[in-house]
Amino acid sequence: MSQQGYVATPPYSQSQPGMGGYPTGFGPPSSQPLYGHYSGTPHSYSTPQPAGTLKSAAPVNPPVSAVSPPSAHNPFNPNNLQNGFNGCQPQRFHSPLPVSSQGPSFPPYSNSPPASYQGPASAASPQQVANQFGSMQISSYGPGVNQNPQMLHSPPPQTSFPAQPPQRMPPPALPTGPLGPTASPVGPVGMGSLPSPPPGGMQCGFPGPNASNTGFQQQLPVQTHAQGYPSQQRGGYGSQLAGPQPSFPGAFPGGPAQLAGPQQKKLDPDSIPSPIHVIEDDKTRRAGQVYTTNMRGQVPPLVTTDCGMQDQGNATPHFIRCTSYCFPSTSDMAKQSQVPLAAVIKPLAVIPKNESPLYIVNHGENGPLRCNRCKAYMCPFMQFIEGGRRYQCGFCNCVNEVPPFYFQHLDHIGRRVDYYERPELSLGSYEFVATLGYCKNNKPPNPPAFIFMIDVSYSNIKSGLVKLICDELKILLDTLPKEDQAEISAMRVGFVTYNKVLHFYNVKSNLAQPQMMVVTDVEEMFVPLLDGFLVSFQESRSVINNLLDQIPEMFANTNESETVFAPVIQAGMEALKAAECAGKLFVFQSSLPTAEAPGKLKNRDDRKLVNTDKEKTLFQPQTSIYENLAKECVANGCCVDLFLFPNQYVDVATLGLLPLLTGGTLYKYNNFQIQNEGPHFLSDLRGDVQKQIGFDAIMRVRTSTDLGFRATDFFGAIYMNNTTDAEMAAVDCDKAITVEFKHDDKLSEENGALIQCALLYTSVGGQRRLRVHNLGLNCSSHFADLYKSCETDALINFFAKSAYKALLSQPLKTIKEILINQTAHMLACYRKNCASPSAVSQLILPDSMKVLPVYMNCLLKSHILVGSSEISTDERAFQRQVVMSMGVADSQAFFYPRLIPIHTMDTSSETLPSAVRCSEERLSEGGIFLLENGLNTFLWLGVSSPPEFIQGIFNVPSSTHVNTEATSLPELDNPYSKKLRAILNSTKSKRLHSTKLMIVKQREKPEMIFRQFLVEDKGLYGGASYMDFLCCVHKEIRQLLS
Ligand SMILES: [Zn+2]
Repeated sequence: MSQQGYVATPPYSQSQPGMGGYPTGFGPPSSQPLYGHYSGTPHSYSTPQPAGTLKSAAPVNPPVSAVSPPSAHNPFNPNNLQNGFNGCQPQRFHSPLPVSSQGPSFPPYSNSPPASYQGPASAASPQQVANQFGSMQISSYGPGVNQNPQMLHSPPPQTSFPAQPPQRMPPPALPTGPLGPTASPVGPVGMGSLPSPPPGGMQCGFPGPNASNTGFQQQLPVQTHAQGYPSQQRGGYGSQLAGPQPSFPGAFPGGPAQLAGPQQKKLDPDSIPSPIHVIEDDKTRRAGQVYTTNMRGQVPPLVTTDCGMQDQGNATPHFIRCTSYCFPSTSDMAKQSQVPLAAVIKPLAVIPKNESPLYIVNHGENGPLRCNRCKAYMCPFMQFIEGGRRYQCGFCNCVNEVPPFYFQHLDHIGRRVDYYERPELSLGSYEFVATLGYCKNNKPPNPPAFIFMIDVSYSNIKSGLVKLICDELKILLDTLPKEDQAEISAMRVGFVTYNKVLHFYNVKSNLAQPQMMVVTDVEEMFVPLLDGFLVSFQESRSVINNLLDQIPEMFANTNESETVFAPVIQAGMEALKAAECAGKLFVFQSSLPTAEAPGKLKNRDDRKLVNTDKEKTLFQPQTSIYENLAKECVANGCCVDLFLFPNQYVDVATLGLLPLLTGGTLYKYNNFQIQNEGPHFLSDLRGDVQKQIGFDAIMRVRTSTDLGFRATDFFGAIYMNNTTDAEMAAVDCDKAITVEFKHDDKLSEENGALIQCALLYTSVGGQRRLRVHNLGLNCSSHFADLYKSCETDALINFFAKSAYKALLSQPLKTIKEILINQTAHMLACYRKNCASPSAVSQLILPDSMKVLPVYMNCLLKSHILVGSSEISTDERAFQRQVVMSMGVADSQAFFYPRLIPIHTMDTSSETLPSAVRCSEERLSEGGIFLLENGLNTFLWLGVSSPPEFIQGIFNVPSSTHVNTEATSLPELDNPYSKKLRAILNSTKSKRLHSTKLMIVKQREKPEMIFRQFLVEDKGLYGGASYMDFLCCVHKEIRQLLS
């Protein structure tokens, strides 16, 4: 980064006031302090005060009432759940509360397995549904989705130089992708429909090697469905299965399934679309290639395919992925299809080392150039006209004067001659150096700070956690993030310890010893020192190291088991505010904050509420204090990262609100033990301290508003103060914001749908920057174009976030019904509009959504939505929160785990064995399998695992000798051990959290924990098998079509 090559010519300046759309100056909404505050009357911070107990004299302001941002539109009305197909309103979740979530632990390693667990070889097999499928057949149709002919930028229409009077021109016609308006609808080629075969027979071969380029059709018999699912109008397939043959064993949301009915002939699971097949096929076709973004509306490679990316005018998929790269032209079409139109944006995504970093454009005092009307920033969608003296905005069509400093001639094809020298003209993503108008109070920001706030109550001392953190920080503080070219980090650091009271430390470099200041008045939190609290590690190294050595000893004999929490956050926020900088708090908390203080919490966990209308209350915060505090944190650029070490319920739903609303991250280590969880915690902490991050950020997504669509909803670790700007006290490279779009008007096929995401933030070096990502999508009035351009992985990301957000306001049952219903609508619309006529008994899926049903089923069965009281509330809240800020790659792996047959690995090659489908069917007694989903990692050992592997990996003669208590693998010097550890490291490097390894043996009790991740099978906590779900969806589709 930091190629300052684009310094513009000097100031013909044109004043560049605040940020058009953004509020200028982001002061906190004046006069809304919460409790205890650095408020109006300036506090005197004279000199560092000597150690000892200080008493606050800060003025107290009454708590201010909660500010629930109005996400009011779209109140969900259950009566809207229509089955009627045409003209349905897209179903929406409505959430009265702002985003939130949290969650705790890994559930029940309970000794009593859920009733439904019937041993490794039981249940879940798809056998029982055999009679539902008279036959299933797959045939191919039409061309595949992804032919992406490489095209050069097409020359924009040339305008003659000596000017004609300004005229409004059609916006630039960007090259269109293969899915342009001329593309003809592609539907499945009708398969010779088979006579309905006898029940129980399911003849379907999966298509040959080229199959995933093709759509497929399945023929399902009509009659066997009749008794299957209860009619969906009454809430989907419930747990009560009517009829003599419950054909839908793992029904939602019901309890353990019963296996009733006659044993069926075994179905061939290969007959239904395989995620592995789809993933591998995309790899075969596209891995190793360079994906260039020179065309509007291209469908990128899947997230699971390793591909180089080259920015040629549109943001690469590192930064933006969409649910569809071709939007429907009209809102009516969008409503009919019910395909959500959304972008998953990771604004600070890491760019791989072998790709070009982002350029930084510096226009000096002129600041970024933007459209006078819609305030969009200069980008490849602006078209220069009249010999280069004006340009027409691609977003609003407004014709703007080119300011003198920016003038440049056009070449013979009408393109500025400096086209390739200016990133903002030729690239999809770049940064501008922001001018003072983009800074808080028109002052350049100070470099951000990190404050480490360590809970030193009894359990953290006893577990050794406090010492572990202190020892690690001594090393870690040398690796604080810095600007690319900087020698040392500009960031400052500060330290607080706490239990029922707070201890601040003066670590000024000229002190011989650190000084401690205690604040006991947690009702009126204030920071007892300014000078010496936030310091440079380089300058204060010896004092800080001294402090970190002393902390574990100072509290070694503590008996204090109660903690406060909100005052800790308040203190950190006040410290940043007083130092006039943004920053992040690293909070290490072990228990529910029950000490008398603002934000005191009680244990309100009640799993009896699961699956009732009151379930949502489990995920709502206990008190409004946390949301108010989060709002104040965001206004002051104070991000909160929360590391939880719970031994019991800690109300993740409430505590987690702070990281969630401030752009922070939540980590959770249940029953923390140094030897097991220590390495993973340290790995997470290192990653968290070192990762790329921006502070005091605000993101706006502009669209061709006047031309038809706009952003309507945002999901992520963000705070929405209004309806258009996502605010984040900090945003790091892993955080993704999912943005939903709606039509205002008709979109033009010629102009397409343009998206510009602008993120204003403060860099780790204290520079105010504006990062811009541009992406052009196609538009079409043909359903086939829409369906060809969908990305199922992005769809699932959207569905997960919108459903998890809805959890705060809707009963689970309703949420699941909506998801199922919408899935059926999307597929039925395809069937109706794109597929060639065929028997209604055939299930026809668009190629791009072949695996939508299996992924959707995984979402429905996720811990958050499955609605089982056996899963801890904290764990559900935790997972919910983690998913809310996930990008597409992370959500894909989370919902459909990677299951890798280790026993097939080739120790002499670099390549990873191909994953297999997540089903018990794929396991074998003689196998060893690695399963991971980003939050859990398992190594499953079959009863007759190959001894040479066991010996190589564990250094014991057979699997019976393997110690399943171990949470990591021994480091042995042999090819098996090296290769497996390399695989583990490689998967770990791609994931958000470090996870401990669980070793499970086939047919031993802990295997059930592993089995819940075999997501194609019937769920242990409820939830249908893939096969059953497919039948259910097919039935819904048929109802919609009938
Ligand atoms: Zn404009």
